[in-house]
Amino acid sequence: MTKKYVRFRVNDKVHYGVIGGSSINVLAGDLFDKHNVTDVVYSLDAVRLLTPCEPVKIVCVGLNYRKHAVEIGMALPTNPVLFIKPATTLLEPSGEIVYWPMVGQLDYEGELTVVMGKKCHMVDEATALEYVFGYTIANDMTARDLQRKDGQWTRAKSFDTFLPLGPSIVTGIDASDLSLQTYVNGEIRQDGRTSDLIFPIAYLVSFISQIMTLEPGDVILTGTPSGIGALQVGDEVEVRIEGLGALRNRVVATRGS
Ligand code: MG
Repeated sequence: MTKKYVRFRVNDKVHYGVIGGSSINVLAGDLFDKHNVTDVVYSLDAVRLLTPCEPVKIVCVGLNYRKHAVEIGMALPTNPVLFIKPATTLLEPSGEIVYWPMVGQLDYEGELTVVMGKKCHMVDEATALEYVFGYTIANDMTARDLQRKDGQWTRAKSFDTFLPLGPSIVTGIDASDLSLQTYVNGEIRQDGRTSDLIFPIAYLVSFISQIMTLEPGDVILTGTPSGIGALQVGDEVEVRIEGLGALRNRVVATRGS
C-alpha cells in the first residue's frame, strides 16, 4: 500500500508524520525502524514541511539519461558517474533557492530520488530494492558555468539551498516508469520518464553500496532527463513526478528575501 511520509515543524517542534487526505498523523518512534501512528493530527495547512529526511550522504548520479548527456556534450558513461552534495545544500520543499553572487548560470535538474531504509553494503542488484524505503523529488540545482569551468562538479553543485527535496517520501510505489516533468513559471521544460534511466534504481543502489555503506535516510539522486535550462531571480521552478507530487521553489537574490 502506498503511504506518504513527511517531516514537519509545528509549534517549534519537529515531527515525522503520515499524510491522510489534508491532515497528518504524527508518528512516534523511528521512521525507518519501529514506529507507530499516533492519534495526534495536524492539518497540512497548519504546519511547515521540512525536507522529508535528514540524509548523512547525498549521492548523486550525473548523466543517467542519454539525451541529457548529449545536451551537455558529455560522452555516455560506462559506469554511473557519482558525486556528493553536502547536507548544507538541503532546502525544505517550499524554501527559496538563492542565486548566489559567484554563480553565472543557475540551472534546474528535476530528479527522482531514492530514500534508503536499511543499512547496506555490498548488496547485489537482485536484493537492492529491499533496502529502499521510498522515493521523493529533488531539484539538483547546478551552477552550470562553474561546472564547465572547474572540470569537476563540487563547487557547481554545493551552494547552500541547491537541493530542494520533498515534499514527502512515498512508499509502496514502483518507481521504474514514472513521468518526470519540470516547469518554469508554469511552462514545461523537462518531460521524461524514469524508464529512460541508463542505470536503473536497483543497479545504482548495488553499485553505490560497493563503494560506501548506505544508511537509513541517505538519498540517491538518480539523474536528470533532457531539457535543463537556466533560472532567473523571481522564477518559480516546479518538479513533478507521477505519484510523488510536486516540488515548487522560487529563486531569490539573497537568503531570506
Ligand atoms: Mg543532476
